[in-house]
Amino acid sequence: MAIKAPRIEPLDILLPAEPLLMMGAGPVPIPARVAHANSIVINHLGETLARVIAQVQSMARYVFQTESPWILGVAGPGSAAMEMSITNLVWPGTKVLAVRNGYFSERFAEMARRVGGDVTTLDVPLGEVIDLAQLEEALERVRPAVLTVAHGETSSTTFNHHLADIARLARKAGCLVVADAVCTLSTTPLLMDAWDVDVVVTGGQKGLSSIPGVSLIALSQRAWDRIESRPADPPHWCLDAKLAAQFWHHASYHYTAPTSGILALHEALHLICQETLERRFARHAGCSTAMQRAIEALGLTLYGQPASRLHSVIGIEVPAGIDRRQVCAHISARYRVEISGSFGLDIVRIGQMGEQCRAHHLFRTLHAFGSTMRDLGAQVDLPAAAAELERTLQRMHDDVI
Ligand SMILES: *Cc1c(COP(=O)(O)O)cnc(C)c1O
Repeated sequence: MAIKAPRIEPLDILLPAEPLLMMGAGPVPIPARVAHANSIVINHLGETLARVIAQVQSMARYVFQTESPWILGVAGPGSAAMEMSITNLVWPGTKVLAVRNGYFSERFAEMARRVGGDVTTLDVPLGEVIDLAQLEEALERVRPAVLTVAHGETSSTTFNHHLADIARLARKAGCLVVADAVCTLSTTPLLMDAWDVDVVVTGGQKGLSSIPGVSLIALSQRAWDRIESRPADPPHWCLDAKLAAQFWHHASYHYTAPTSGILALHEALHLICQETLERRFARHAGCSTAMQRAIEALGLTLYGQPASRLHSVIGIEVPAGIDRRQVCAHISARYRVEISGSFGLDIVRIGQMGEQCRAHHLFRTLHAFGSTMRDLGAQVDLPAAAAELERTLQRMHDDVI
């Protein structure tokens, strides 16, 4: 052979003996049932997978809070689900209004430009949410066919909490609403039908606490009708919603589905159904609030306006003189906990999605984070923070955590 096999470090050497606790902005820890399902490979066209798919769809309808039949999966990251929505609903000349308050909402705008959309962005100052009067004015001026918005803008830890109002104004203007719920779905209420949101996209590895690489998209009948009315086939064959429906609705071949990932997603959704959305939302709100109060008790400052702070991912301002990259490197190396930096802002981010919202993870993370800040020279009050975390968690119903 001209090219020799490379010398490889075995995975058990490459991976740490004890897995790092994944407390960043995703991927998040997965439950044992999800991990087990992910280790199984089955026939991608058999009767068994067809039954699994039917259950994934009905559980997804509960999680998205929709009765729409149009639930599709996609082999790919959350971004692939975003691109599937854009590439099917937007074509050359389609007017798109993109509400932009961070990196992921900009991604929607970029995807729409790439398929020839006529994109107008509505820029919101970082850490704030869109003013509804401003939105109404923009809808009137642009007359878009499609509006895009991130329900939770993970990058700037901003929560577009008035998605229902955004959708109401868009509906009045005759415009379809596409919402990115990658970090929010199943962590905070999102009522797709009641709020009249046309498309909701999500990934596996954040709110749902499944593996990265298999994502979900739910479309309203209105959105589906627009896809049916396209003047030409969409440019991306793999992301063509009508071809995907062949597999997701007719058990026939589009491409080889990620069977293990779909089994994992089935388990993640089943766990959500068993917990119920009500209890899951209460667990997320309770854990995230407790963590936020604890961080303030440390003596640090949360990022953004209180009303628009995202519960799913907490942004924390890094004190002057400390480098955010150093915070992430130190907490990982010394305390075996992973947290995230950010794209441009001087903040670090701690995730509160799915399995991250468990009391034992919160205590370990607070200890690791507070100790890291102390190690790097910040003035922090660790005992006060631990007491605050304990106090706030105790106030939640015992059965929620
Ligand atoms: C993580 C994230 C994405 C991108 O998901 P990938 O799986 O990395 O493609 C998109 N939108 C939001 C809000 C996210 O948090």
